[in-house]
Amino acid sequence: MPARPEDAGELSTTDRTGLRRRRDRGTHDRPVALAILDEGLLAHVGVNDGGTTVVTPMTYARVDEQLYLHGSPANRTLRLIADGAEACVTVTLLDALVLARSAFHHSMNYRCVMLFGTGTVVEDNAEKLAASAALLDHMAAGRSSDARMPTPSEFRSTLIIRFPIDEGSAKVRTGGPVDDDEDLALPIWAGQIPFDLVGGTGVPEPDLPDGTVVPPYASRYPSRGPVGSTGTH
Ligand SMILES: Cc1cc2nc3c(=O)[nH]c(=O)nc-3n(C[C@H](O)[C@H](O)[C@H](O)COP(=O)(O)OP(=O)(O)OC[C@H]3O[C@@H](n4cnc5c(N)ncnc54)[C@H](O)[C@@H]3O)c2cc1C
Repeated sequence: MPARPEDAGELSTTDRTGLRRRRDRGTHDRPVALAILDEGLLAHVGVNDGGTTVVTPMTYARVDEQLYLHGSPANRTLRLIADGAEACVTVTLLDALVLARSAFHHSMNYRCVMLFGTGTVVEDNAEKLAASAALLDHMAAGRSSDARMPTPSEFRSTLIIRFPIDEGSAKVRTGGPVDDDEDLALPIWAGQIPFDLVGGTGVPEPDLPDGTVVPPYASRYPSRGPVGSTGTH
């Protein structure tokens, strides 16, 4: 998604998004947060029902300053959000395992966004269609042009939530382990094991009609992040 002027600026800093521990790793920079949201595939959505706190992994898509979440109207997390519950949504990209000489200093390199807010139910059919397209295209660019889009009855069986990208923060760790000076001479391997989110080659369904065209994202799923960026972002 190309950068737009309104994508600049900062996420709102509030009492709960003020970074406390390791604030050097934190930022409220909106472009940093949006880039993480655009690269990630998996959100963890946390809500409290007044007693139990539940964190549910979900797919998502960003359109401008909002995320769309979708699922069954019976989904507990989405239902709670639809009924007005505050939610916390995190998206995390794992960039490396950070292996230190000492157990104490093992860590991970990551880019992570944490958002707080209340969502609203999408009722308008045109917005539902746009949200459904965005959810598909976030998985694989161009997929919404290839897939059969939802019918009115499928829409009635889908709860779509609009969640604001406003109050939140991002946190980024880069670099190697930070071992204590007295451990540096130990003959113990230390360093980073890079991790990347890489899609493999698509495995076709056995019952595809003859002549079904293989889309580019199925023959070679494109890199989601900056190419060759592993361990350096
Ligand atoms: C892949 C990964 C692995 C991690 N492993 C550990 C671990 O094993 N142990 C550990 O203690 N910490 C770990 N962290 C860091 C952890 O997410 C917290 O940032 C850290 O523990 C501080 O938590 P806190 O509750 O004291 O945050 P506080 O600094 O009190 O949080 C205040 C505010 O800062 C922001 N914030 C905090 N953490 C994040 C974040 N990760 N992303 C975006 N905004 C954030 C939020 O707005 C939050 O409300 C890991 C992070 C990632 C992404």
